[in-house]
Amino acid sequence: MQFKNHIAQNFSYSRAKNIGGKIVPTIVVLHDTAGRLEKFNSANYLLTAPRGVSVHFVVERDGTITQQVPTNRRAGHAGTSEYHGQKGCNNFSIGIEIVNPGRMTDAGGGRARTWFKETYNIVEAGIHFIQTQEHGAGWWMDYEPEQIAALEDLLHALFDYVPTLTDIVTHWYISPGRKVDTNPLFPLESLKARVLGRDDLQDEAANDASDLIEDKGEMVSIDVPNDTLNMRRWPSFNPNVIATIPDGVVVPVIRAGTFGDRPWLKVRYSGQEGWIVASHAAPTTHS
Ligand SMILES: [Zn+2]
Repeated sequence: MQFKNHIAQNFSYSRAKNIGGKIVPTIVVLHDTAGRLEKFNSANYLLTAPRGVSVHFVVERDGTITQQVPTNRRAGHAGTSEYHGQKGCNNFSIGIEIVNPGRMTDAGGGRARTWFKETYNIVEAGIHFIQTQEHGAGWWMDYEPEQIAALEDLLHALFDYVPTLTDIVTHWYISPGRKVDTNPLFPLESLKARVLGRDDLQDEAANDASDLIEDKGEMVSIDVPNDTLNMRRWPSFNPNVIATIPDGVVVPVIRAGTFGDRPWLKVRYSGQEGWIVASHAAPTTHS
């Protein structure tokens, strides 16, 4: 099936060399290309990639989408993988590659370097240092708003027209320890909430359901002896950890609210804002 009529963005279909047999897809697997950002660079590579590699869709930085494999045929994007006990995710998934350079390292001089030796200005390119349990530490480039909007359109179209689909996952989720895509900046939970209608609270909803207390200048001390506390993108226990805060670190509190019968605090740490469970945050006295 092609989705040209259902997607607002620029869309084209080019047939990949590596197209496998019939599948009944039940999940969508999201990837980063971990390649150059130039338009169609990764898409063109994937059309004739070696070792059976292929993917159903590629989403460029500007939101342009290329489909390369029909949604009811097998593509080679997941490799060794497992979803809820089911191995070999290529046999039951639709793969989407999102153009992003992947993990970068500090190149000095305010720049970050990709594995393919390109460097970017950290500020200008929207690059952030983030460490998560799933990704480890690295410098990561933000996705473009046009890219996320196009991806969301594509996901809506897929879930409308492929009735067997039930979930959206990332490559790191099905190949833990082996893969780190999509990167920690990827807005997985908000996309899932919007596309799947799941009950995860997006930013606006989480803000509406909590109180802004930043002006009070409250500070809390992380209280997890000999451990670290997960800072999460949203106040839930879904895979949305964006940082781990060591025991004893004092952080400023921005918001406070109750989610799932549990008090949470939105705090600022290491240049990011995120949610922590309040039971592991001890009040500090301040003047
Ligand atoms: Zn991947």
